[in-house]
Amino acid sequence: AMERYASIRDLPAEATCGTVIGLHMNAGLIADLPSLPSSGAEGVGLFRTELQFLVRNQMPQRGELAAIYSHVMDSAHGKRVAFRTLDIGSDKVLSYMKPTEEPNPAMGWRAIRVGLDKPGVLRMQLQALIRAAKGRPLTVMFPFIAHPDEFRAARCEFDKAMDRERILGHALPQSVEVGAMLETPSLAFAPDGFFREVDFISVGGNDLKQFFFAADRENESVRRRYDTLDVSYLALLETIIRRCDDAGTPVSFCGEDAGRPVEALALSALGFRSLSMRPASIGPVKHLLRRFSLQEARAVIDKARAAGASSVRDAVTEWISTQG
Ligand code: PEP
Ligand code: MG
Repeated sequence: AMERYASIRDLPAEATCGTVIGLHMNAGLIADLPSLPSSGAEGVGLFRTELQFLVRNQMPQRGELAAIYSHVMDSAHGKRVAFRTLDIGSDKVLSYMKPTEEPNPAMGWRAIRVGLDKPGVLRMQLQALIRAAKGRPLTVMFPFIAHPDEFRAARCEFDKAMDRERILGHALPQSVEVGAMLETPSLAFAPDGFFREVDFISVGGNDLKQFFFAADRENESVRRRYDTLDVSYLALLETIIRRCDDAGTPVSFCGEDAGRPVEALALSALGFRSLSMRPASIGPVKHLLRRFSLQEARAVIDKARAAGASSVRDAVTEWISTQG
């Protein structure tokens, strides 16, 4: 499938209005990294670190993790890799951590909540990331931040890990960026200061959408019930974009929807300038983006909203098809 888009692989995702969208890939294994050059991705917008923990039957050691992260950075050849700290709980359960029976694991003790309540694993992982980066830029993001205090506490763990490395005389990263994943509606309405504090925001659309519509992403009978291009959800996304723009904070979108061409076009028209998706989606998304004007797409969306549509999907898909 990727060969089909080989002719545009090294071209930017530049819409006909001149706006360029950064297309990044999602990954979770060293084996995913060869897709970076073959897909034409600018970097790894989301590196899910759960897999290295899930494939073992005991907690991985710091040294092992540092070697894996270093290998990932080597394989990225200087392209940015946004490492997301452990997001376990919910659908991903580690056999060697005490399984907690939870009635609603997706809303339960998961991700940064585990990281802050039992900070040993988070500290070990942050130290492994810092060691792996030595002399190179490091990008870290924390999953499932629902409140600014959680980001502050996590960032404090990161700063302490940096201090420890400094005291030990180890080489530090050349530069660091520490961001938050916005995956709960609450964070979209955090005080202004929060948006200035974070180095970047990455919208996790899979979780954000499930919590916005209260529709379990794992449940076949409800997961497709609500449209990503529903005006209510677009209003939430626009709020996030505006608040990040006002704070001068970069924002990207990294859920499955980013890899669907029509959705990617709409997200770009709303104001996202960076999308992260499965490598195989980069070609089709770029192909579509390069054929359309984001300004015109935005006008189509606004017109549908002004006319009272509950979803802009029909208007956008009809406009795409009439443009040939
Ligand atoms: C998301 O929630 O959109 C996301 C990117 O994270 P995950 O799919 O791993 O929960
Ligand atoms: Mg998520």
